[in-house]
Amino acid sequence: MTFSRRVIDTPPYLFHLIDEKRKAAAQRGVDVISLAIGDPDRPTPDFILDLMQEEIHDPRNHVYPSYKGEPDFCESVAAWFEKRFSVQLDPKTDIMAIIGSKDAVSHLPFAFLDPGDSGLVTDPGYPVYNAAIGYAGGRVVRVPLREECGFLPDLSAIDPVEADRAKIMFVNYPNNPTSAVADESFFQELVEFAAKHDLVILSDNAYSEVYFEEADRPISIMKIPGAKNRAIEIHSFSKTFNMTGWRIGFVVGGKELINAFLTLKSNFDSGVFMAIQRVAARALGHPQVEPFFRERTALFKSRRDRIAAALTELGYRFQLPRASYYFWVRIPESYASSVEFCADLLEKKGLVVTPGVGYGPAGEAFFRISMTAPDQRIDEGLKRLREFHRSR
Ligand SMILES: *Cc1c(COP(=O)(O)O)cnc(C)c1O
Repeated sequence: MTFSRRVIDTPPYLFHLIDEKRKAAAQRGVDVISLAIGDPDRPTPDFILDLMQEEIHDPRNHVYPSYKGEPDFCESVAAWFEKRFSVQLDPKTDIMAIIGSKDAVSHLPFAFLDPGDSGLVTDPGYPVYNAAIGYAGGRVVRVPLREECGFLPDLSAIDPVEADRAKIMFVNYPNNPTSAVADESFFQELVEFAAKHDLVILSDNAYSEVYFEEADRPISIMKIPGAKNRAIEIHSFSKTFNMTGWRIGFVVGGKELINAFLTLKSNFDSGVFMAIQRVAARALGHPQVEPFFRERTALFKSRRDRIAAALTELGYRFQLPRASYYFWVRIPESYASSVEFCADLLEKKGLVVTPGVGYGPAGEAFFRISMTAPDQRIDEGLKRLREFHRSR
C-alpha cells in the first residue's frame, strides 16, 4: 500500500498538534485551560434552535438539496447582503450555499489552478489556504503581513513576476490570527491589483459580524466596482451565530466565477442539508438577530478588555483587537521561538495558547490568544499567566 504525496507531505494540522499536547497534560492530571481554539463557547441561540424544531419535521427537507443552494436561501442572503453591505446580488447567479467556509477555502483553488500554477497567501494566515493550494497541485507564494502596515499586505512589495504568475490570492479581513480589519481603500487597491495581474481574489469574510465598534464594522469587497468579476467572497454562519457544528455558509461573486465553482462542487458533495439551509435563510432576517449581536458584543468586549489589561500589566506588546476573537501578541524577548514559549506556558501552567508560526513563518514572533472560552476559564487563564511571570 502506498499513500499519495498529498497525504505524506501534509504537516499535521496545527490545532491537532496542540490538542495532542493538551491531552498529554490532561492525562498527567493537569487542569488544562485552552485559549487556543476559535470555536464559540456559547451555544447556538434559542431562536435558531426553535426554527430547527420546525424545519426538521418537514419531510421536504429530507431529500438531496440542489447543488447551488435552495432558492429561498439564496434570496434571503441577497436581501441580507443589500441591507448589511449595500451590495446588490442576483440570487439566481451570484450566490451559492457551501458546507461552511472551509468547504470553499479547501475547494476553490481547484477551480482556478492547474498543477504548477501559483497562489498568493497572506502570512500569517488560516492554515487551510496553503494546504488547499498544495492539494490542487499549486505553489504557495507567501505575502507577509507586517505590524507597520496594520497587518495588511503591502501589494507594491509583491514581486510583479510572481503576481503575474499567480492565479488566485487569499485574503481574510477581519483577519485570523491578527484581528486586523481592512477598509474600502484597501479593497479598492486589491481589486486594481487583481485586474492588473489577472488573478482572482478569494476573500474570506468569516468574521464579518464579529466586531466591537460601529466604526470598525467590516465591509464586503463586493462594494468595489468591478469586484464581482475579480473576487469570490466567502461567508459563514459559524462565527456569526455560534453555529460551527452546523456547517453552512455561502460564497458570492459574479455568475462566471460562481459557475466555475458549481461545476466542481456537483462532484465534491451533495449540498447542505435543506433543513439547515431553511433555518439559515430564516435566521438572517429574524428580529432576534439584533439583540443576540448586542449581547455577544458586550460579552466579547468585556473579555477583550480584561485580557488587554492583564497583557498590558505584564508588559506584552499587542494591538487591541477591533474584530474577530483573537489577540495577536508578541512573545517575550527571552524566548527564541513561538513554539518554545507556548510549550513552556503549557508545561508550567497548563495554559494553552497558539504558537504564531503555526499560521506561517511571518508569525514566528507571536502567539494567539482566543477569547472563545467561558469567562471563569479566561480569568483563571489570566491568573496563571500572572503566576507564570512571577515565577520567572
Ligand atoms: C473559523 C474560520 C473558518 C472556518 O469556518 P467554517 O465556516 O466553520 O468552515 C474559515 N476561515 C477563517 C479565517 C476562520 O477563522
